[in-house]
Amino acid sequence: MMRHSSRIDAIPLVLLIFSAALPCAGQPKKSVFVVTDGEGVAGICRQEQTEPTDTELRQLLTGEVNAAVDGFLAGGADEVVVWDGHDGSRTLSATTIHDRAKLIVGDIYPLMTFDRGYAAIAFVGQHSKAGTSAAIMAHSYNSLGIQNMLLNGKPVGEIEVTAALAGSFGIPVIFLSGDQAAARELHDIVPDAVTAEVKEGLARYSCITLSAAAARDLIRERAAAAARKIGSIRPYRVNGPVTLQIEYTTRNSLPFGAGADPGREVVDDRTIRIHGKDLVEAWTRYRDR
Ligand SMILES: [Zn+2]
Repeated sequence: MMRHSSRIDAIPLVLLIFSAALPCAGQPKKSVFVVTDGEGVAGICRQEQTEPTDTELRQLLTGEVNAAVDGFLAGGADEVVVWDGHDGSRTLSATTIHDRAKLIVGDIYPLMTFDRGYAAIAFVGQHSKAGTSAAIMAHSYNSLGIQNMLLNGKPVGEIEVTAALAGSFGIPVIFLSGDQAAARELHDIVPDAVTAEVKEGLARYSCITLSAAAARDLIRERAAAAARKIGSIRPYRVNGPVTLQIEYTTRNSLPFGAGADPGREVVDDRTIRIHGKDLVEAWTRYRDR
């Protein structure tokens, strides 16, 4: 009886060992792409703290990124690819990044490598769009150079543009850490995304922040919960033709011949509209210049 039973069980056991050894067999790798920034990191509330080579910023951001990587891996991600997205890609280092993460250094605009096919994207250290009240250092891509950015007439910043670009490739946003305003901005377009609110903005340069340790604990826990939602959160898509309107600041008035390229329309001395058959075309026309 014993012998008979163990012989029958031997076949499924072999299959079990095989499938455990090959977790990705027949399934795409669950890769999470992380966009990092500086202004949404816990403890960062003043402009001079956002200098990309500032020692404290580097420590604080690295701690949050590594906590997020821990969380994503604990929640079932196979790989985490981190892009150093803050001001010139000079803040993160391969010497201190999580040993199971891959680091992207340098400019990856316009398409941010989304054509490589990630399972999900996430934001760490993210701030909200230009013009948001009670939001720490809110801006859209360039605080000195851009007053407003509108996508099909709606004010947008890095959160919505990045989410929509990823959505163009079928990739959902699952997670954001940053201030309360940034979390709110993501929830407006992706209600199911998981957020870690590490500070509350009282004004542009005034905040109530968690400690670095508490922020890391929160991020680790929420990132794990987010990774478990891969497959259930839908990509955020902006379908159809797109008009991207960039309103520059006074010091950044349009250069000579600004409207000459295809799909470009000069509105006034410091405002341009860029048209595309879809978001990818409009964004590529904008960022290629
Ligand atoms: Zn930013």
